Amino acid sequence: MPVPLLDVNAQNHPLESELTAAFTRVLRSGRFILGEEVEAFEAECGASIGAAHAVSMSSGTDALLAAFMVLGIGPGDEVLCPAFTFFATAGCIARTGATPVFCDVSPESFNIDVGSAAARLTARTKAIVPVHLFGQAAEMDEIAAFAAQHNLQVIEDVAQSIGATHRSRGCGTLGGMGCFSFFPSKNLGGFGDGGLVTTDDADVAEMLRRTRNHGMHPRYFHATVGANFRMDALQCALLRVKLRHLGAYTAGRVANARDYLDRLSKLPGVVLAGDGKDGRTARLVLPQVGAQMGHVWNQFTLRVIGSGQRDALKNHLSACGIGCEIYYPVALHQQECFRHLQAHAIHACPVSESLTGEVLSLPVYPELTAPQRDEVIAAIAEWLALR
Ligand SMILES: *Cc1c(COP(=O)(O)O)cnc(C)c1O
Repeated sequence: MPVPLLDVNAQNHPLESELTAAFTRVLRSGRFILGEEVEAFEAECGASIGAAHAVSMSSGTDALLAAFMVLGIGPGDEVLCPAFTFFATAGCIARTGATPVFCDVSPESFNIDVGSAAARLTARTKAIVPVHLFGQAAEMDEIAAFAAQHNLQVIEDVAQSIGATHRSRGCGTLGGMGCFSFFPSKNLGGFGDGGLVTTDDADVAEMLRRTRNHGMHPRYFHATVGANFRMDALQCALLRVKLRHLGAYTAGRVANARDYLDRLSKLPGVVLAGDGKDGRTARLVLPQVGAQMGHVWNQFTLRVIGSGQRDALKNHLSACGIGCEIYYPVALHQQECFRHLQAHAIHACPVSESLTGEVLSLPVYPELTAPQRDEVIAAIAEWLALR
């Protein structure tokens, strides 16, 4: 039985009648841009995250860009972000004209290392973008203290972590703004592109609403330059259906991850990240849930130790019909498009660099069945025994 990395149909097809009803409602309303469905989705999604205000956007990327625009970040400014994340985090910083300054990450959580960020601080640093990578919150206590001390804005990249918590508080409510994505592979996956920005500040929310609509206020008057970052009413109506199931989807991911952790940790050569066991004999390092973290497992990401070993395991799993993927094969400070950045913005990020050669993400989507998990575990056990 093949085990795909992700199966969107397994999640969406059972909702066909509810989704069709939502489509019909929008069709009959004739209202496709902003309006009631958009407002209802924003209210419902903001409440689920625990934010006072939620402003939908055309994608997670545009959510980040709109957040930076509202803060007035631009040429001459520097913004701290991790070197190990999806491109959009840094791409949006660069698109404002500001300089992304790449920080290294923790090998245990894959999230930004505040010590590395502190070492890169200059008089031009305006903001820090912690990414809650793979479904787990960054070290927000340390980040908030660092940001407060140096008067930095905090924009959370929550694209992979809707529903994740840090000390029981929702990701996206821990900084000045939280940027979410509804790309189909995210934990709340839509039917195309979509995004959202959360904030507890009513004035910021109003600026976000104007920015996503050409900076227009009132109609045909523009005190600031915005763009078209609006999310479709249809997309909002469809996501209102899926939002009602987000808790169940998260519970499914958590149960799958627990099963993997429980059974994989019993195999020889497998250790848990940071558990202090002899690193020299470890061949696979399992992801770890930090203290006080509510992990929502957008990805279940292993580290495969030893030169060429990650690719060998990837080939073995692929040959067994098991979907797996490398998130991410190149660290951002090594991307060609950032080569022109001045030397001060490009520091070595040794952990990020080694992670790009070690990481491998396994299927963990909520609809994964027990027999499918058995196959994944059996294939990994077989690979470990082979060598
Ligand atoms: C997916 C993702 C984004 C961008 O979201 P889109 O909706 O695809 O534009 C930004 N940051 C991270 C960390 C992501 O995983």
